[in-house]
Formats: sequence, structure tokens, C-alpha cells
Amino acid sequence: MRPEEAVALPLVFVLGAVVGSFANVCIHRLPRGESVVTPRSRCPRCGRAVAAWDNVPVLSWLLLRARCRACGAPISPRYVLVETAVGAIFFAAAYLHGLTPLALAGALLATAAVVLSATDLEARVLPDEVTLGVLALGLLLAAARDLPAARAAGLSAFRGHLFPALAGAAFGAALVWGVGAAYRLVRGAEGMGLGDVKMIAMIGAFVGPAGVLLTLFAASLAGTLAAGLPALLRAAAWRRAFSRARGSAPDALREAGLRGALLDEAARVAAAGPRWREVPGAPAEGAPLSAAGPVARPLAAFARLGRRRAALGKPTAFSRLALEDETGDFFRVLSARAEAVPGGLLVLIARVDVPFGVFLALASVVVWQWGGPVVDRISAGLPIPGRGLLP
Ligand SMILES: [Zn+2]
Repeated sequence: MRPEEAVALPLVFVLGAVVGSFANVCIHRLPRGESVVTPRSRCPRCGRAVAAWDNVPVLSWLLLRARCRACGAPISPRYVLVETAVGAIFFAAAYLHGLTPLALAGALLATAAVVLSATDLEARVLPDEVTLGVLALGLLLAAARDLPAARAAGLSAFRGHLFPALAGAAFGAALVWGVGAAYRLVRGAEGMGLGDVKMIAMIGAFVGPAGVLLTLFAASLAGTLAAGLPALLRAAAWRRAFSRARGSAPDALREAGLRGALLDEAARVAAAGPRWREVPGAPAEGAPLSAAGPVARPLAAFARLGRRRAALGKPTAFSRLALEDETGDFFRVLSARAEAVPGGLLVLIARVDVPFGVFLALASVVVWQWGGPVVDRISAGLPIPGRGLLP
């Protein structure tokens, strides 16, 4: 690294934090179908517009001590986490690769990965504005990297970055779309959405065809491990929770408040935990099961089934309870188990949907930064298209 680049690093972090501030706006608004340009950011509780001096990345959050200046409503730590993360991404890209187009490509891909991970976790959405927008930026950047050589070499210069980026995008999209189509044929159910197809196309524009294969391999491996391990831990935790809840009515209430809900003899909610309360329309404490709104109905139906079976002395388990509202703001796949305990029926629930976009995002950044030498090793000296896209 040259000395002037070292001087620029703190500025690069600040630039990244500002980009992170915009990323927060995208994470909040795009899944809701709102514009990211207007209006000004507002407090979701009191509706007051956030003044410019209260909107300085990271600093304002710390100075306001994570509260709205007008009404004192807490501001989610996600805002400062995303701003800091994107600042760190820009810093790391410039530190590792200098102030180069390569560093810009890495920072862009990693920032998109942060945004898509957050929207996938919160709303199960991968917005087109991000996937297709960053795909277009990635292709432009690849073309820009070929332009100096194109003056002398003409069109063949685009074999360096642009053509491999296009090939990576097309190859990734075709592969994931094909796998999804095959899954639908075999299982008759939706495997991967179009959002995943567009996201892998975006990734392909940054890592090329070989990088796409590495990314899908790493993401699938991580996704499988990440889904399997919690399932084992959950089974053990639930066994312990039910055995504690069988002890006494207060024990049952406490377990319900931690990880589910307790329904009394009249099918009213006696206690509810966070996973239950976050479901839109889930009956609140004191309300009957019949008060469930549309999104919460599968959960209420499960509880009713659990009550009927508990009357016969049988527990009820269900591993895939899909809850979704039509706007797409809320999506959960739950695992649930119900058993009779002192005071009523204890329903334990846990979130089991694997947000594949998060694993794709993580894998793409790892492959971009460290996949180059792996591609070299596998290719055994043969020229691999798209190797030039990676550091
Ligand atoms: Zn407020």
C-alpha cells in the first residue's frame, strides 16, 4: 500500500458508513415497496422527520443513546451495526486491494451481501432493486476495468472482465433456476424462489462462472449444517422445557413466556413468549384462540389440534408450519410441539426457515476474497474464465 492510500483509509471508512446509512434505508423500505429517495427518514413511533444532524452515521446513534430525540422510542441497534459493518467493508477492501476498481467491486458485493442478508432475515425478501441493480453495477464495473486495454486490443479486451462477468451471471442464474425447476418437478413444491436466481446472477457478475460453483457449494454446505445443528439442539432444549413445565403451573407459565404459549382450559392464551407475539394477529395474553387473525390461523389450528389430542393423552408435533402475510412483510416457517402440562396446553415454537440468501451472501464474499487461489489449485494451471475478476 502506498502512503497516500493509508492516509485515505479513515475517509474510506466514513464513506462506507454513509453508504451503510443508505443501506439501512434500503433494508427498511424496499421489502415494504417504499421509495428509498423520498420522504425523509421518520421515527416509526412518533412520525417526526429525523433532522440531518441526528442522521450522522454511527455518531448520532451513540449521541442520542439509541433513542428518538422527540419521543424517546428506542432505535434498533441494526442501524449502527449496518453502518459500522459497511464502513469496515470499505476499509478492508481499500486496505487489502488499494484504491482500485478491484477494491470497489469487493466493497460493492459485500455491501449488497449485508443488505440482502438483512432483508432475507427480516422479511424473507431479496429486493430486485438490490439484486438486479448491483448486477448492473457489477457489469459496468467489469466493463470499466477492460476499457484501458480496449483502446489497443479492441473488443477482445472485454474477455478480461466483462465477458466472464456476463458468463458468471448467466451460468449462475441458469444453474439455480434449473435446480429449482427440477425440485418443483420432483417434489411438486417451491424449492428456491426467483429472488435466489437473481441474487446468484448478481454474485456471478463479481466472481465469474468458477466462483459461482464455489459459492453455491459453500452456501449449500453452510446452510445444511446451519439447519441440522439447531434442529438437534432444539429437540434437546424442548425435551428439557417440557419436563420442567410438567413440574408445576408456574413452571409451565415460565416456559411458555420463554419459547411459546400456554393455553388454559378455556382455550385462552395464559402466557405468550416473543416468538408467539411477533406473529401478526396471534391472540394476545387473555384472548381466546378464536381471536387469531389470518396470518396466525395455521398456528391457532395447530393449537386446537394439540388440545384435542392432549385430551386423549397424546402430544402433537409439527415440523413445518408456514405463516405468511400476503404483502410478504412477514414470513416464518415454524416447528411446533404441544403437550398437556399443569394449567393447560404448552405450545413450544421455533423458527426453522433457512434464509438461503444469507448463506449465499456470506459465501459469495468469502469466495470473492479467498476463492482465487482455490480456483488456481483446482484448475491446475489451465486458464479459467473469470479468474481475473477475483483478487
Ligand atoms: Zn419518535
